[in-house]
Amino acid sequence: MQAVQLVRWQAPPELREVDVPKPGAGEVLVKIAAAGLCHSDLHLMGWPEGTLPWSLPFTLGHENAGHVAQLGEGVTGLAAGDAVLVYGPWGCGACRECIRGAENLCDRRLERPGTGCGLGYDGGLAEYLLVRSQRHLVPIGELDPVHAAPLTDAGLSPYHALKSELHRLVPGSQVLVIGVGGLGHIGIQLLRELSPARVVAIDLRQQARRLALDAGAAAALDADGLHAADVRAELGGNGATLVLDFVGTDATLALAGGSIATGGHVSAVGVGGGTFPMAFGQVPLEWSLSKPSWGTLSELHEVVALARAGAIHVEVEQLRLDEAVEGYRRLHDGEINGRAVVVP
Ligand SMILES: [Zn+2]
Ligand SMILES: [Zn+2]
Repeated sequence: MQAVQLVRWQAPPELREVDVPKPGAGEVLVKIAAAGLCHSDLHLMGWPEGTLPWSLPFTLGHENAGHVAQLGEGVTGLAAGDAVLVYGPWGCGACRECIRGAENLCDRRLERPGTGCGLGYDGGLAEYLLVRSQRHLVPIGELDPVHAAPLTDAGLSPYHALKSELHRLVPGSQVLVIGVGGLGHIGIQLLRELSPARVVAIDLRQQARRLALDAGAAAALDADGLHAADVRAELGGNGATLVLDFVGTDATLALAGGSIATGGHVSAVGVGGGTFPMAFGQVPLEWSLSKPSWGTLSELHEVVALARAGAIHVEVEQLRLDEAVEGYRRLHDGEINGRAVVVP
């Protein structure tokens, strides 16, 4: 079968011919229906050799949906043809984080061959994906796999970041969303569904600002030349109770810090490698900051429940497997609206 693999660090991935894997005991082979292209893969590809203790090559793709193709020995409760999402972080299943469902925080994550599918282990940018444990499969029922695949990261990550902060979002509160790509446009829909807060979005791209308004933002500001004072003016002077920064560069974190309300919170989801400015005078009193990372297995079940209830619509651009490498290039250059999803 064909697979999009990372063959060398700091180089574009390659479309290669690989063997179809066979499921061993407890494993499940999934025929991929859709695999999302994530911005974090671009960061991953750019890191120098040795940054992560993973062996190359491996197949990319950590946002996957498909149908059960073959069950390994001992797997029960699933049948060939079942439509499933694949939970992306693959923990050891036995440490204290994994047993509470937070495999995204597995205590042994760096002692293992990878941290998830497409992250050290082979991922879903291929015709088939070998899933190491059936607990990583979440049934999606009648949901369209192409629109459901991004829920595993572009849906789960903003949901995880938001869920713990919902208590702040009383009527009259405001949320600033920085970056309206795959995660951002779903994050805005989650805010509209789960809170009464007014949402203001920021992006450089006009089509992303349009997407933000369609997703339910009250206003969408052009990031070009934007200062925190401009954002505060849009927010009516008091600032944002919550800032969700889906970019995470020096520029966006400075904007985040300068836009929070007294007692406000910044959730820095994006892995842009920036530094948060916290000098006295640059931030208000009693602010807080968190760095959430992906989400738990039970939260993915909750995101799927929201999607099945019609609360989330993922804006998708469909690509073929042989267009994936070019798709990453277009994602890098800001040419993708919503989420690029590869259909093998
Ligand atoms: Zn991702
Ligand atoms: Zn673990």
